[in-house]
Amino acid sequence: MNKRFDKRILLTGGCGFIGSHLVKLLVNKYPNYLIVNVDKLTYCGNLDNLKDIENNENYIFIKEDICNFDKISKIFKEYDINGVIHLAAESHVDNSIKDPFIFVKTNVLGTVTLLQAAKEYWLETKNKYENKMFYHVSTDEVYGALEMDETKTEQPYGNTFFKETDKYFPHSPYSASKASSDHFVRAYHDTYGLPIVISNCSNNYGGYQYPEKLIPLIFYNIVNEKPLPIYGKGENVRDWLYVEDHTRAIDLIFHKGKIGETYNIGGFNEWKNIDIVKLMINILDENLGKPKGYSEKLITYVEDRAGHDLRYAIDSSKLQNELGWKPLVNFEEGIRRTLQWYLENMEWLYNIKNKKK
Ligand code: NAD
Repeated sequence: MNKRFDKRILLTGGCGFIGSHLVKLLVNKYPNYLIVNVDKLTYCGNLDNLKDIENNENYIFIKEDICNFDKISKIFKEYDINGVIHLAAESHVDNSIKDPFIFVKTNVLGTVTLLQAAKEYWLETKNKYENKMFYHVSTDEVYGALEMDETKTEQPYGNTFFKETDKYFPHSPYSASKASSDHFVRAYHDTYGLPIVISNCSNNYGGYQYPEKLIPLIFYNIVNEKPLPIYGKGENVRDWLYVEDHTRAIDLIFHKGKIGETYNIGGFNEWKNIDIVKLMINILDENLGKPKGYSEKLITYVEDRAGHDLRYAIDSSKLQNELGWKPLVNFEEGIRRTLQWYLENMEWLYNIKNKKK
């Protein structure tokens, strides 16, 4: 029965933020593909993110831990999987500082489990690695921090950008675990010939992001007039990309990316944390009928995160030049869309917040 689908993709972490956007994109765009979403439903996995497509014929959800080798191998066989898009991960840096073990387990061991299951199953199939692809979704944080030009008052805040050829210098347990998983993915390619591709993307934003991350957290606190915690002086710079620009890039790389290659994904869009918070205050105060700048009094500077990287900035010209991708949503438009989404989906946010208590 699975043979009627041209591709049978095992997509991990499909109930999380980026994963749920990607599942919806693929399920709707490719009725000839079967999308098998394997997600453990940790605290940030949420079935509500996928309500729109949960009954589609080309979609299956399986609650499973990617570290469970026997179960994962069974899924490969049962659905005759010929593509993997791997997003499942522990993804919050602060959590990794408190408890690195689960990051090593899920991000490293989980990735190796998937690689080994893919390798074993694909080598058993008639065409072996032909028309197979293992796509590993990773982060720009593996590259470490870039220098910052303190004299610059607008982006780019420095003259260097992460390139695919840069060495890895991860600083947090999160980025170290993602770096390690990237190395294993490459090792499976170099050692066993597994057809792989990797992308390293900058910070994403958009609807359905778990409210531990900057934008949904600040949104919630502005709406509820709670303190807006800002690490250090709020000077840390991140390159921000609208989540749908990321999922479009993943779709493109999965289909057109060269086996064994890495692609950096980013929007050439650097923002200091404090400037994002101020922009959000401006938009939300207006939307909520509050006087201009009303919520600025909520800004609260807190002790900086240990090992906090100062600046990330991605050079995505390889992806732009070789595969023709470019970001379509500029930041002002994307942040307005995002805040509008949270305003219209307060129930989603409050359900999560209430579950946590
Ligand atoms: P997320 O935290 O919102 O979602 C992670 C998902 O993985 C959740 O649904 C969770 O239930 C699932 N999961 C966790 N452990 C699992 C396990 N052991 N087995 C099965 N499922 C498990 O994360 P996100 O922000 O959507 O990030 C997705 C991927 O993209 C991650 O690999 C992350 O490193 C990468 N990435 C994220 C960003 C970003 O800005 N959010 C940027 C670049 C790369």
